[in-house]
Amino acid sequence: MRAARRAGLGALIAERGVDAMLVSALPNIRYLTGFSGSNALLLVTADGATLLTDFRYATQVKTEVDPLVEVLIAPASLWTELWRILGARPAIGRIAFETARLLHQEAQRFLATGAKGARWHWEPVVDLVEGLREAKDAGEVAEIRAAIAIAEQALNATLPKVRVGMTELAVAGELERALRAAGSEGFPFETIVASGPRSALPHARASTRVIERGELLLIDFGAIHHGYCADITRTFVVGTSPSDRQREIHALVRESNGSASALVRQGMRGRDADASARDYIERAGFGEAFGHSLGHGIGLEVHEAPRLAKTAEAPLPLGAVVTIEPGVYLEGWGGVRIEDDVLLGPEGPVVLTSFPRDLVQL
Ligand code: ZN
Ligand code: ZN
Repeated sequence: MRAARRAGLGALIAERGVDAMLVSALPNIRYLTGFSGSNALLLVTADGATLLTDFRYATQVKTEVDPLVEVLIAPASLWTELWRILGARPAIGRIAFETARLLHQEAQRFLATGAKGARWHWEPVVDLVEGLREAKDAGEVAEIRAAIAIAEQALNATLPKVRVGMTELAVAGELERALRAAGSEGFPFETIVASGPRSALPHARASTRVIERGELLLIDFGAIHHGYCADITRTFVVGTSPSDRQREIHALVRESNGSASALVRQGMRGRDADASARDYIERAGFGEAFGHSLGHGIGLEVHEAPRLAKTAEAPLPLGAVVTIEPGVYLEGWGGVRIEDDVLLGPEGPVVLTSFPRDLVQL
């Protein structure tokens, strides 16, 4: 499977007229080789791949990386090792590198080295591996499904513990403990627990704010399984039954989510998917209150291609797993967001998240 991915990248490299690609983004390296460590460079050519890492990962690479990848444990810096192996391969002259995935300081090393040797030409590329990663294979979908199951199990375990008088951070702590207990390898992003008027902040961090009776409680969180992410949002009301206004806004967001989750499919432009939810909210007069895009791909990263946004012209690929997360945010009052993870299958959308979307009273 990973050899086929590397071959796919090899073909893209050949199309661009370069001899090799230096992959520096760790999620891309993981996708191509299985290596999950924190320090690596990967040099891919049309007929092979060389992974550079350091002593800390000498044992780990043996279990993670398939034998078709040449593995080198760099005695000092990865870059020094890279110049050494490039020096020994005269056939490599033009090398693509990931402009969006390098520090400026690192890019300067190419330029400095290139000038010295005057042999290598560095070709900037964007989203080459990311493009391959958009369409998930069956194994990747299974990993995402497992991450979603962990997330939903953790949310189920947490909700009965939520009480009026708890802080947002205390709720986040319970949820994160439940995520670990359910098997999550970590948290793909900082858990969002936003209560009352803070629920109108789409990217609120959990705070020391105390949750009061009758307030909205927005929880946006994820789980990680074998590196693959889940990303789910649900909005609740705490301590009493919802007000008419809370019901009305929640129902609007829920219907928008349901409509987009049913309509989204491969081949559709990202902007049309976005519009399928946005039009719904605009018609109800709340267009201004839905200020972010509809969704994003999930996989080895929690935010990856494709994008479901007003400006996304690209067609959505078959096999992508995307979030559908419309929201309505009213400053000073609060906000509602409902986020599901949807597979773009050959027969149409498959909603992978199954947690109830009702406005539940905690
Ligand atoms: Zn989310
Ligand atoms: Zn999301």
